[in-house]
Amino acid sequence: MESKIWLSSPHMGGGEMKYIQEAFDHNWVAPLGKNVDEFEMAIQDFLGENKYAAALSSGTAALHLALIQLGVGYGDEVICQSFTFSASANPIKYLGATPVFVDSDKTNWNISPEYLEMAIADRIKNHKKKPKAVIVVHLYGMPAKMDEILEICNRYEIPLVEDSAESLGSKYKGRKCGTFGEFSVLSFNGNKIITTSGGGALMTGTKEQKNKTIFLSTQARDQALHYQHSEVGYNYRLSNICAGIGRGQMEVLEERILQRRANHDFYKELFADIEAVDVFTEADSDFCSNHWLTSILINPNLTERTKEELTAAFAERNIETRPLWKPMHLQPVFADCPYYGANVAEELFNQGLCLPSGSNLTNDDKRRIDEVINHFKF
Ligand SMILES: *Cc1c(COP(=O)(O)O)cnc(C)c1O
Repeated sequence: MESKIWLSSPHMGGGEMKYIQEAFDHNWVAPLGKNVDEFEMAIQDFLGENKYAAALSSGTAALHLALIQLGVGYGDEVICQSFTFSASANPIKYLGATPVFVDSDKTNWNISPEYLEMAIADRIKNHKKKPKAVIVVHLYGMPAKMDEILEICNRYEIPLVEDSAESLGSKYKGRKCGTFGEFSVLSFNGNKIITTSGGGALMTGTKEQKNKTIFLSTQARDQALHYQHSEVGYNYRLSNICAGIGRGQMEVLEERILQRRANHDFYKELFADIEAVDVFTEADSDFCSNHWLTSILINPNLTERTKEELTAAFAERNIETRPLWKPMHLQPVFADCPYYGANVAEELFNQGLCLPSGSNLTNDDKRRIDEVINHFKF
């Protein structure tokens, strides 16, 4: 059996063990310490725009704490991009609120500004409920249409939460994803562009919001000698060991972005002469994706061959691929949630596939991928 080519696997930079060792040397084996503080500083320096980072145990936890701070509660509604990973929507349910799903833009794949506006207007007019927040996702690293989305959110005075779990290093009109929302979510899960094995961060606009996030993530202890609590707390802070991995990973982030973008160029060239396949890419220079995962669409009008057949052909050579995210409004767990759209995301899901995109993809891996495509005969 040939060695496995993963979709997106952890890629250490070399500095991680030094920071882990430091934590052991000083016995800061806890969810606080120098690594946590320094990791947060590195994220803040990278993203800029005067944003603050609170390091947490996962991206999902970050989203949960964002929605809590926006006052989302039982019976409320929150608008969420349908075409995403389930973690974008689950925290809405944790709070007893209802996700209202919105379809994607055909060329951008992220939330459609037209259907977003339609959804907001309809919820207010016909359901007497103003959404408490809008969650936008930059899928596979592609920045969403932020000007249009922010204009709508500002006009209706609805706070924007940015799920930037897949888009660390991506830019919209030169500004980094993860700095547009009232709150923005980062993830450092094992398959993301950089990883802490598991972890996340909540980006906030103010120091107070950062402090509040840390307060909630460490069991919401009031200032008192005894253990006193006026609010429900959570155990969501990032471990100082994991943060040590994060510090090492931040040192190579720029390199990782270039490597993922180079993978994308490889695929563009590979499929250049195959008419039936479109590589998902930036519409114009307003968008700069980190190309976390390079994805393709197979046009059923131009070939008989399917994504299932291509998946099987890759699997035969021990190469991992993945379907695009199945839209949330089609998931059994969200079956009774409202949805606004025209089945764009559903069509993308039916035709698309994510290809191996790790920053550690070797030339030999690329040669094997090239062979699969050239034998496949679209
Ligand atoms: C990975 C991911 C998350 C969740 O992050 P975790 O750190 O795994 O909890 C949320 N949203 C999107 C779009 C993701 O890809």
